[in-house]
Amino acid sequence: MKITTLSIVAGSLACQAKCPFCVARMTPSNNMTNKLPAVNWRNFRKACLLAQSGGASTVLITSKGEPTLFPEQVTQYLEQLWSFNFPIIEMQTNGIAIVEGKVTEEQLQKWYELGLTTVAISIVHYDPAKNHEIYLPHRKRKAAPQLSAACTPGATNGEAKPAGTLIDLPVLNGPAAETTSLGAQLTARAAEGEAAGYIDLPKLFKLLQKPERRFSIRLTCIAADGYIDSGAELEKLLAFAAANQVEQVTLTPVTKPFDAEDKEAFDWVSKNFLKPDQLANIKEFLAKNGKIVRPMPHGAVVYDVGGQNLNLSNCLTRDLQPDEVRSLIFFPDGHVRTNWDLAGSLLF
Ligand code: SF4
Repeated sequence: MKITTLSIVAGSLACQAKCPFCVARMTPSNNMTNKLPAVNWRNFRKACLLAQSGGASTVLITSKGEPTLFPEQVTQYLEQLWSFNFPIIEMQTNGIAIVEGKVTEEQLQKWYELGLTTVAISIVHYDPAKNHEIYLPHRKRKAAPQLSAACTPGATNGEAKPAGTLIDLPVLNGPAAETTSLGAQLTARAAEGEAAGYIDLPKLFKLLQKPERRFSIRLTCIAADGYIDSGAELEKLLAFAAANQVEQVTLTPVTKPFDAEDKEAFDWVSKNFLKPDQLANIKEFLAKNGKIVRPMPHGAVVYDVGGQNLNLSNCLTRDLQPDEVRSLIFFPDGHVRTNWDLAGSLLF
């Protein structure tokens, strides 16, 4: 059996965010609750051996909630992984606990020394107001956003807006627009994330890119109608990534599972999925501006767009080749499955 990635379910169902498309909520909980479960370490080692025998070079520490809410357990997983020497170890996170200091700098440093190579940060947009309405709609904005000097005044009326209301993007014109790159302008905007009720993404990038721990950063962006839904929006996202030395960007159109556990999430996805003409527009942009680096298993394609890496991906695909598994998924109770959305895809 050929295996691409060993995915590890860390943490619990708990998450600070409330994404309306939460794939974790739409797929079976498989005995997970909001409480941190004990880990079956015997079976964990067996899962590692199985993944290596299938040729997996990548481990992804992920969760049915948010893994960094339980940083000690992330450390434990990395310690257990050490002897297996997987070349690439990634962690998927919304980054909130890291930038808010609930994950300490000592813990980040330890993760780096234990071999964590890549921190993949979930977003839906380069703009904090858009991320706020998806991830933290329950969190009040601290204040009206103060736009940086690079941004033209007039983009905010100076009043705090209720959660979920979009703040207009700064309209750039005059000398500021001529002298400041698009990426720098979007970075200035993102650094005001806390005012918009979200996190300061550039601050998070800096925390992860200190000279003593230069993690590789990937922005994993869910593409949905009204968010990154066109070639023009993707171009801005890539400019934002490049300005922040974010090495990789993955764009994944929001997907509903074959059978949804959570009707609310299922309905949101049914309404806001990327429409065929929007996806076609993104592909057109990539055909014009990108060069294919390599096709990936399961239909994803990696591009170079003006020097910026982009993976146009998909999630929750079925494994169609009888002997190929995209993701071997380890659950803390010791079960190993091959599909997030099929509780019956059990190997042991
Ligand atoms: S950050 Fe992830 S786990 Fe948390 S609500 Fe959003 S999709 Fe679900």
